[in-house]
Amino acid sequence: MGLTGNMLIGGQAVPGTRDAIKAINPATDQVLEPGYPGGSREHVEQACALAWSAFDSYRETSLQERAAFLESIAEQIEALGDTLVDRAVAESGLPRLRIQGEVGRTCFQLRTFARTVRTGEWLDVRVDEALPERQPLPRPDLRQRHIALGPVAVFGASNFPLAFSVAGGDTASALAAGCPVIVKAHSAHPGTSELVGQAIQQAVAKHGLAPGVFALLFGSGVEIGTGLVSDPRIKAVGFTGSRSGGIALTQVAQARREPIPVYAEMSSINPVFLFEHALLNRGAALAEGFIASLNQGAGQFCTNPGLVIAIKGPALDAFLATARQAVERSPAQTMLTPGIFKAYRHGLQELASNADARLVGAGLEGTGPNQCQTHLFVTCARDFLEQPALQAEIFGSASLLVECDDIAQARQVAEHLEGQLTATLHLDEADTETARTLLATLERKAGRILVNGWPTGVEVCDAMVHGGPFPATSDARSTSVGTAAIARFLRPVCYQNFPDTLLQPAIQQANPLGLCRLVNGQRET
Ligand code: NAP
Repeated sequence: MGLTGNMLIGGQAVPGTRDAIKAINPATDQVLEPGYPGGSREHVEQACALAWSAFDSYRETSLQERAAFLESIAEQIEALGDTLVDRAVAESGLPRLRIQGEVGRTCFQLRTFARTVRTGEWLDVRVDEALPERQPLPRPDLRQRHIALGPVAVFGASNFPLAFSVAGGDTASALAAGCPVIVKAHSAHPGTSELVGQAIQQAVAKHGLAPGVFALLFGSGVEIGTGLVSDPRIKAVGFTGSRSGGIALTQVAQARREPIPVYAEMSSINPVFLFEHALLNRGAALAEGFIASLNQGAGQFCTNPGLVIAIKGPALDAFLATARQAVERSPAQTMLTPGIFKAYRHGLQELASNADARLVGAGLEGTGPNQCQTHLFVTCARDFLEQPALQAEIFGSASLLVECDDIAQARQVAEHLEGQLTATLHLDEADTETARTLLATLERKAGRILVNGWPTGVEVCDAMVHGGPFPATSDARSTSVGTAAIARFLRPVCYQNFPDTLLQPAIQQANPLGLCRLVNGQRET
């Protein structure tokens, strides 16, 4: 294994035919070899044909086989060791420790989905046995299980080159559901993508799976991305990136003869509400915690706290004074790509030129290229409510504090917010009843509501929701992190009056897999 500059289709390394994409080390602006010639519509056709031919056999692999396959991917990724870490650091500018953590998270995620697959609970088996004597009409025998949707197109994210990319959460959950996956690599980290893609390809071969179970394509979003999403054999899409990209791909999916679901995670500013007693009792600690969260990963987390809401007064002034000091000693950090850095600077300029937003403080300037300088602005609730532009996500370490006259105005601000991945409440016991008055609104706005924590840091577990109403995502009914993500790529099928021998084991009368099932309205374990 090693970097070849090739795409991975049908178990083969396939050279692209379009202009080569080359990664740039954002810390130095140095161009990284090798080049990755982009694929064409012919490559999309090839990958989709293979994925479709692999679908029926892959989706009926046993729970054990599929789980072992996911575990093998994790082992192959771990075996890449420093080769993978070095390349991901060079392509992303992220610190080595962060990348090492991301390798661990990616492998943990794959193993967590392996555990989920083994339980079979996601099959959600329901059995309603025949009632031939029922009056006035007999009931037939009815059995339900979930099956995989079909081949899934996954768009790797720039901000998590491992955990949300080629073998990230979308791929892991789709493979766990029984869907072949075709990844459109993010052009910012083609080398990392190739290495991880090779690891998946090796696991496919090791388990004797049809080679169409996985493919990795390079190339432009417009040609390869749109080509994949419009191909009739693709049945769902996983995406993390910009609002414009997510919307464009959702529109392509909706315009198809057979529209398909797009699970696009796009834009969120993650409001944080600071309540009166919390501010009074521990305002300085809150200010330090806020800026630490804002600076994580140069603010390039989808859960970055980009908006803070509090009631004005001396406690908030003291909070702002400490926050300003913390901002002003924040070191600059390298951003992921020159494009993201440019977008960050543009967002800052827009806010700085808004007469109703005041700069509280700016962090230290960096010396190298693509340096993110932390920024904190303040505005008043009236202006925030009047100007939709003040809700725009600035992807990076920038945040806006909204000063409210009273809690009624804070509630108005909450009601005015777009959909969010998270909403955070900082409260002391004496704030509980005030906080309660916001909950109904925040449940309608966000996928995850936190108390006395910071939104950066998303646990991979069974209860996690990393999703939320538009524009946080294009489909608020699901999560892209945690084991519930598997549900995005499944659909129920009901089998009526089937002879037992024609049924898959999961729904056979004797329950040979020992699944937890709902039988005649009773939970059977
Ligand atoms: P992006 O520009 O949306 O790109 C993500 C992927 O989608 C890339 O593979 C891109 O292909 C493809 N794509 C984009 N627009 C498309 C279109 N109209 N049709 C088809 N495919 C399309 O995201 P990014 O490069 O990661 O970052 C750009 C901005 O996105 C950031 O500045 C930030 O504002 C936002 N972002 C948000 C989050 C979040 O979690 N909230 C995460 C990452 C980025 P190409 O190879 O052609 O570019």
